[in-house]
Amino acid sequence: MERSVKRLAVLGSTGSIGQQTLAVVRALPQRFRVVALAAGGNTALLKQQVSEFQPELGYCTAGGEGTGLSLEEMAAYPGVDVAVIATAGKAGLAPVLAAARAGKTIALANKEALVMAGGIIIAEAERRGAKILPVDSEHSAIWQCLLGEVSAPERLILTASGGPFRRYPAARLTKVTAAQALRHPSWKMGKKVTIDSATLMNKGLEIIEAHWLFRMPLERIRVLVHPQSIVHSLVEFADGSVKAQLGCPDMRLPIQFALTYPERVASPELPRLDWDSLKTLDFEPPDGGKFPCLGLAREAARLGGTFPAVLGAADEAAVALFLDGKIGFMDIPRLVGKVLAQHQFTAEPDIEDIMAADGWARRCLLELAGGKR
Ligand code: MG
Repeated sequence: MERSVKRLAVLGSTGSIGQQTLAVVRALPQRFRVVALAAGGNTALLKQQVSEFQPELGYCTAGGEGTGLSLEEMAAYPGVDVAVIATAGKAGLAPVLAAARAGKTIALANKEALVMAGGIIIAEAERRGAKILPVDSEHSAIWQCLLGEVSAPERLILTASGGPFRRYPAARLTKVTAAQALRHPSWKMGKKVTIDSATLMNKGLEIIEAHWLFRMPLERIRVLVHPQSIVHSLVEFADGSVKAQLGCPDMRLPIQFALTYPERVASPELPRLDWDSLKTLDFEPPDGGKFPCLGLAREAARLGGTFPAVLGAADEAAVALFLDGKIGFMDIPRLVGKVLAQHQFTAEPDIEDIMAADGWARRCLLELAGGKR
């Protein structure tokens, strides 16, 4: 039987995940056709990508430049088999919802959409038969561990590298710079997620992401620091058996699996684990005292409603200030915590409530940060 070529819309094509998605396509050209591209600010790279992949539905930029289709239209277009949502931040929400409403297969790399509106997205996807395939490495690992199982898992264990400051004493954390925080020990990623990895907010957001993707109660999702980043996450079953997924810390692996699923495909580009040099795999519980973002995320998730959206938005604003050298590293959890404490939440929000909470949280964080200076 002849294999059909999968038609991809790649949204966020110039970001880290977007570029790696196109690298996967480049390595397996007989399997995929890129039919739409969308990007934020990097128009020069987008133009290069357009001339290389010749997307027949065209392209668009955040600034509105392009050939007609919006992000939402690209994600929901009838001629698209898989919508790859790799946009950063809240820009992912509208296209994810549009793709879910259109019953698409969604390769989801944007965790913010699920953090903001997981309940709405999952309900919409179920109603329309849309499939959400995780690209985030931890969630891809859990998904792979669950394939073929008929029993629901008892617990999910998300691994975290611990970031560059795992061994730093708490007192030193107040003085670390953006340049230091951007030096991630094992993964090469975009700036926002790299800072979130250093504060462990990334793992907090991933708890919320896992809660929605796998319908798992929050208290049955735990986090384990694993500095080698080889075990990408684990699943524990009722009989005590634990399954893990291992691989090199390379995002092209989870991206490729989401795109070739249910098949596994050999690629000349993907690295292999070297079992002769791999000596130890370490695991330790995270230090919640040193990294308060993890606790803030759990609390926001437990309270629910608009709290997770406020958490995500306040964090995004705080990380931007930190990258600009305007606030210190430990101001990120301090300010995010203050914003959460001031939030008047809506228990069962619709998308408008969520967008309003997002805007409020960003303004509130900037005001609080300004008051400090
Ligand atoms: Mg991750």
